[in-house]
Formats: sequence, C-alpha cells, structure tokens
Amino acid sequence: MNHRIPFYRVNWVNTSFLFGITVLGVVAAPIFLFMHDLNWIMWSLFAFYMVATGLSITLGYHRLFSHLSFKATWPVRLFTLVFGACAFENSVVHWASDHRRHHKHTDHDEDPYDISKGFFWAHIGWILFKLNAPQPIDNVKDLQKDALVRFQDKHYVVIAFIAGLILPAVIGYFVMGGMVGALGGFLVVGALRVVLVQQSTFFINSLCHTLGNQPYSTRCSARDSWIMALVTYGEGYHNYHHEFQHDYRNGVKAWNFDPTKWTIMLLHKLGLVSNLRRVPESKIVAAEMREAQRKAEARLAELNSKEGTICEHAMARVDELLVQLKKNLSELESSVSQSLEASRSTLRQWQRETRELVRRLRDLRLVNA
Ligand SMILES: [Zn+2]
Ligand SMILES: [Zn+2]
Repeated sequence: MNHRIPFYRVNWVNTSFLFGITVLGVVAAPIFLFMHDLNWIMWSLFAFYMVATGLSITLGYHRLFSHLSFKATWPVRLFTLVFGACAFENSVVHWASDHRRHHKHTDHDEDPYDISKGFFWAHIGWILFKLNAPQPIDNVKDLQKDALVRFQDKHYVVIAFIAGLILPAVIGYFVMGGMVGALGGFLVVGALRVVLVQQSTFFINSLCHTLGNQPYSTRCSARDSWIMALVTYGEGYHNYHHEFQHDYRNGVKAWNFDPTKWTIMLLHKLGLVSNLRRVPESKIVAAEMREAQRKAEARLAELNSKEGTICEHAMARVDELLVQLKKNLSELESSVSQSLEASRSTLRQWQRETRELVRRLRDLRLVNA
C-alpha cells in the first residue's frame, strides 16, 4: 500500500500542519471539553471566532478580494485580512490567485482544485501534494496595490498564529483563570474552530462541485445546494456563482440562505462597503431559460432514441411549455441586447413556466417500452 503514496510529492509543511491541527481539534479538544468544559464567555468567544473567521473567508477572501464584487473601507479590509489569516488558509494573495485560476480553468488541469481529478484531490489533496510546478502569482496585481494586503501577505504566519491560536489562549487564561482556561482557548476556540472553518471551505471545492442542481449552466461541474449553503456561510449556491462570479450574492433568491450576502447588505447600510455588483434579473432568468431549453431538448432526444412511446398527455404539456419558453426567451434576449429590463411580473411568470417545464421533464416516462 505504502509504495503507492507519492512521498516525494508530499507538501510536508501543509501536511504536518493540517494533520497536527486536526488531531488537536478533533481528538484533544473533545477530551478537554469532556474533562473541563468552558464557561459562557469562552463559548461566546468560540461563536465570535467561528463567525468572524468564516465570514472573513467568504465575504473577504472570496467575494471581496478574489471577485471584487464590492468595495470595502479599510476597517472591513483589515478585519477580514486578520481573521481570514486565522483560518490558516494562506495569505489572501495566494488564496485569491488560486481561486481566480479555479474560475478561469474550472474542471481542467490548470484548475488548482480540479474536481475531475477526484473528490479527495478537490477537497484536500491539492493542499497536501505538489503535482505540478508552483504557478506564478501573476493574476492578483490589483490586490497587491493595497498596502494592507501586502502587509498581510508578508506577515501571514505571525498574524495567523498570534490572532488565531495564541490570543484565544491568552483570553482563556484571564477569563477562566490559569492554564486550564488557556488550554481550552487554544484547543476549542483555536484548533477546533480552525478545523471546522477549513472543512467548510474545503467542501466548497469538493461537495459544491458534486452535490446539487445546475439551474443556470452545465458548462462546468459547479452545483447549487441549499444543504451546502447551511455549512458554508451561504456559498452553496455554487452553480449561480460560477455563472455570475462578480455578483456579491451567491444565493440570489430572496429565500436563499446566504449569511455572507446579508452581512454585505448590512455593512452597506452602515456605509462600510459600497459598489455592490448585481447581475440584472433579466440576465439571470435568461440563463435559467437557456439551461431549461437545453435540458428539455436533450431529454426529448434521449427518450426518442429509445423503444416505446412517451405518455401523450405529459408530452403535450411539455411541448406547449417548450414552445412558450422559446418564444419568451427570444423576447427576453432581444430586450437584454437593447439593454431593456423586462417587468418583474413578466420575469416571474417566465420563471414559473421554466420551472414547471423542468419539473415535468423529470416526470416524462416511456410507456409500452
Ligand atoms: Zn468552484
Ligand atoms: Zn469564486
């Protein structure tokens, strides 16, 4: 078995850290909690660190720095750079460079976390092993103009250890009294929280390219899943995100669970962020309609190539909806090309019909096969 692991390709620094922090977070922290527990101040600190670190990755590293989906004042940039470092996912310069390459080459060899190399590779393998030569950091020059970003890149390791592991231990020492409190802060607020936030990020690269629907496009493997949104601070609507990567929203629908989007909206109300980028509603609905048409034509071609006949009643409704969809889509595309925005009620109606078509396609069956 051992001879199959390419040891000469192992990234020993990353592997040792990930192995060590996982043992501390998943084994040592539960043993500590079984023996000592934490007081309410320390549990509040744990909750704060979970939210601050998680959102610094999704709101800061991802939507702000990698995709420039809004502009942020220096306090927001500073906060997300400090707490983003506390997730131990590298400096924002490296993170954003990898992520921009992921969007540019999704599912291909140059994609750092290419899901076509397997679930394990996309989840964590790309961090543990060095398969290809390191890529040049040449796609984040815009970020490197920011002095705060340059400072974080230069001192990333020091910031991460001090703010992410040592500070929780120091706070634990003072609020719980002595070394037991310090150990609790280090193991629970530090190590366990790092493991949880890291796994949440890793799931976006693995499960969000594996589980869920593709309502906007099947050009790449990215998928929408509300279940994944629950554990990724709203990043689970990954199919939408890959189709419209500069939109500050990932869960674009009002009912989507996207706490990162809600935080950006709140910061906007407080005047701390500005220039929120949104894709016009008509473009989003047009993408859904094009995808539904493609799926309908592929499904009908598949059924027609098989023996048997399609249930006449079900087929009649699908035909009717498909004809209507093509008519609506051409109307929508011509208004989009003239930069006209269709009325909200019309878009809603077309969206309802599109979804009915997708639903009915799932129910189409061959009879007399
Ligand atoms: Zn992706
Ligand atoms: Zn992205």
